[in-house]
Amino acid sequence: MTTTDAPPDGSPPIGIIGGSGLYELLSDAETGRADTPYGPPSEPPLIGRLGSRAVAFLPRHGRDHRFAPHLVPYRANLWALRSLGVRQIFAVAAVGSLRSDLGVGSLVIPDQVVDRTYGRPHTFYDRPGRVAHVPFADPYCPVGRRVVAQAARAQGWEPVESATLVVVQGPRFSSRAESRFHAAQGWSIVNMTGQPEAGLARELGLCYTTIAIVTDLDAGLGEGEGVTEADVFQAFERSIARVRTLLATVVEEAPVEPGCSCADVPPIPDSPPPPGPLS
Ligand SMILES: [Zn+2]
Repeated sequence: MTTTDAPPDGSPPIGIIGGSGLYELLSDAETGRADTPYGPPSEPPLIGRLGSRAVAFLPRHGRDHRFAPHLVPYRANLWALRSLGVRQIFAVAAVGSLRSDLGVGSLVIPDQVVDRTYGRPHTFYDRPGRVAHVPFADPYCPVGRRVVAQAARAQGWEPVESATLVVVQGPRFSSRAESRFHAAQGWSIVNMTGQPEAGLARELGLCYTTIAIVTDLDAGLGEGEGVTEADVFQAFERSIARVRTLLATVVEEAPVEPGCSCADVPPIPDSPPPPGPLS
C-alpha cells in the first residue's frame, strides 16, 4: 500500500465508518494520511473504490478493535475523513434492541439520537473564541437515510426508519433498570458509539447516516444473563454479508450533490479546506 492524501480520481469520496469485516470492501485501497489536530484517528483511513465511487473507510475501533467506545478518537476520525474531501458518511453500528418488534438481525436507520455519554471530547469548539451552535434537531442526513432505505428494500431487507438511538457511555452494558428506563422513554435502540460521532459530523457540515444492525436484545427485553460481548460479535458477523451488499448499493446510489442542509454550518476555525471539485 502507498500513502496518499487525496482520493484516487479527485472526486469527493463517500466515507464509511464501520468495523471488522468491511476491510475487504474496497478495491485498489491505499492508506490515507493520519495526522490531524486531534491526534491520529483510530486507524489511517483506507481510500479505494467500491463500484464506480471513491470510498474512504475508517474502522471506528481500530483494525484490532483496541479502542473501547469511550476511547475512540471521534474527533480525529471525523477530521481525517473531512480532510480527504468526504462530504457524506455512512456509519455502520451494532445496536441493542429496546423494542420487542426489533429482533436480532433487524436493520434500523435511526432518525433521532439521545446522548447519555459523558467525559468524551464531543465538540470541535474546545477553546475560547467564537462558537457556533449548530442545528441538531434532525441529527441524520435525510438524503442518506432515504438512500439506505431504498437500497435495503431493493435487497429484501425491510428497514425500520422511525427509531431513536440512545447512546450510553459503556463499556459495560446497561442494567435491566436502565434498559427498561430507556425503553419507557420510547427509545428504540441502544449503543455506545453513536455519539459524539453524529454531533461532530454535523459540526463539520458532513452528511451523516447511521446504519444500525440489531445484534442483541438489551437487558430489559432479553432473558437470562442479559447481553454478552460474544452475542454481539457473533450476531454482527452473521449480518456482515448483507451489510456489505447494502453498502455497495448505497455508495453507488448516494447523490454526489445531496441537496440537503447538513453542510449549512459555519466553518470551524482552522477546519480542513473545502472538498475539491466535483467529478
Ligand atoms: Zn445531508
